[in-house]
Amino acid sequence: MTSIFVKIINNEIPSYKIAEDDNYFAFLDINPLAEGHTLVIPKKETDNIFDIEDENYKGLFLFAKKIAKAIEKVIPCKKVGIVVIGLEVPHAHIHLVPINTIYDIDFKKTKLKLSEIQFLEIANKIKQAIQ
Ligand code: AMP
Repeated sequence: MTSIFVKIINNEIPSYKIAEDDNYFAFLDINPLAEGHTLVIPKKETDNIFDIEDENYKGLFLFAKKIAKAIEKVIPCKKVGIVVIGLEVPHAHIHLVPINTIYDIDFKKTKLKLSEIQFLEIANKIKQAIQ
């Protein structure tokens, strides 16, 4: 079955896009733990991240690194935490979460409620910081 993330890649459902290239796509998590919480996905649909073939797997993490560097520049935080869960959406994805304490990356925490304008502003800031 086609995942919701394939629909996002194909622009069939909207997202707050950060960046894409031929193989990867990054967009804001709609239920963020923190401002700037971003998902990085391969365009090729694979459920388990460890089933991605090596070249694509390396490329995914290099793409995530570029996005994380941009997040670090524009979102005040000590680090950008990186987590892979994948229990909800069966399309491999890396969570990039700006953090100051371990608690900031606790997925049991109540998620932020951001307005469309806030999402757009955050996405634009990160986009502009990508090198
Ligand atoms: P998990 O599969 O457990 O890693 O969680 C999936 C993540 O995808 C959650 O943090 C959701 O908030 C996020 N998510 C689900 N649907 C969308 C969507 N349409 N746009 C952005 N993020 C989404």
